[in-house]
Amino acid sequence: MLMYDLILKKRNGGELSKEEIEFFVEGVASGEIPDYQISAMLMAIYFSGMTSKETAVLTLAMASSGDTADLSAIKGIKVDKHSTGGVGDKTTLMVAPIVAAGGVPVAKMSGKGLGHTCGTVDKLDAFPGLRTSIPADEFIRIVNDIGICVIGQSGNFVPADKILYAMRSATATVESIPLIASSIMSKKLAAGADRILLDVKTGSGAFMKSYDASVSLAKEMVEIGRNAGRKTAAIVTDMDVPLGAYIGNSLEDIEAMEVLKGRGSKELNDFSVFVSSRMLHLGGKGSICECEELAKELLFSGKALEKFRQLISAQGGDVRAVDDYSLLGVPSTVHAVKARKSGYIRHMQTDRIGMAGVMLGAGREKKDDAIDYAAGIILKKKTGDRVSEGETIAELNTSRGIKAVMQAEEEFLSAVEIGPEPPGKHKLILAYIDENGITEY
Ligand code: URA
Repeated sequence: MLMYDLILKKRNGGELSKEEIEFFVEGVASGEIPDYQISAMLMAIYFSGMTSKETAVLTLAMASSGDTADLSAIKGIKVDKHSTGGVGDKTTLMVAPIVAAGGVPVAKMSGKGLGHTCGTVDKLDAFPGLRTSIPADEFIRIVNDIGICVIGQSGNFVPADKILYAMRSATATVESIPLIASSIMSKKLAAGADRILLDVKTGSGAFMKSYDASVSLAKEMVEIGRNAGRKTAAIVTDMDVPLGAYIGNSLEDIEAMEVLKGRGSKELNDFSVFVSSRMLHLGGKGSICECEELAKELLFSGKALEKFRQLISAQGGDVRAVDDYSLLGVPSTVHAVKARKSGYIRHMQTDRIGMAGVMLGAGREKKDDAIDYAAGIILKKKTGDRVSEGETIAELNTSRGIKAVMQAEEEFLSAVEIGPEPPGKHKLILAYIDENGITEY
């Protein structure tokens, strides 16, 4: 088989066979296919697309390209969740303890932040002493003991995705539904959970900017999960505005812990209950209605907070940080960003707000950059709020110098559109998709 022929076939809109896709993935993972042919194939897929059958085969081939997790030694139905990524997205920290407190084991592998988003592993790493690199037998023991453990991905986890993802980033081929679906689902299948909830973000802070494209991606991934024998559901949620008010690793830990302490905003409380109830439902804990009641009880009784403490402690973290947030790091500079005119915040270009956070040290510009856990942004105003000229709309937290602060301030202000009229109403939860179809909210 020649890679040239496969590229030609896909370039001309043909359907690749199972053998051809497996040849491609094996060649990528082994390093036998040169970068220029991988890039050409990615571009051909970007323009010609893939059938659902091709996407499913690509996903399975990628999932088995490296180490896979065997969670069979964990009792119960294991439910995983995955977000396609956004700004201020601390959902896992809020919902995983609720789900585990409800008796559904959460054995989760999470990612690091890349680009304008922060990752769950970095947020957990902000707890002094906490380990996110844990051997498989200890990972399983912790989940069996306390019902939850969240770790990073091992070096040889879905290597085909590592190579393809890096190549996609460099060749402007990230925004392709078959490539995103196979990238995400290959990792979810390899991570071994029985059931999967996908949180597909949509809007200016997400990979998928339009609602329709996000729904198509969600449907494609639900179908891949179903065909692989893993019950999968998806929610489509707004990322045209950052989630919550805190952006940055320690800051997002703090906001998530405030939710678990019953002191979160109504929006985050409702969101946590919505997401965790769908996971509890997938975990067999009852109907969606029953699971919503259960999730509320677990959240507002403090049981989920207790589970969070157990998680931090079991992974070696300093549990005092749950009550003393200064242990998560303190920035040397807190700079108030003032509105330059009066009016309503009409729109926040959310990926650029994420980039302002990266400039402060909250994320990585390059894969191996160090993170400043305490760096980030506290939003005082969000889309729809009225602001007066000179009023503080955000606080920038950093330990970098004045130049970084000024750059981040410019990036932030240019991402915030202020106008005389209020914008239309914003909804956070847009749709739920499972094997029965789509429910729109
Ligand atoms: N997240 C992933 O893991 N892969 C993508 O392609 C996009 C988001």
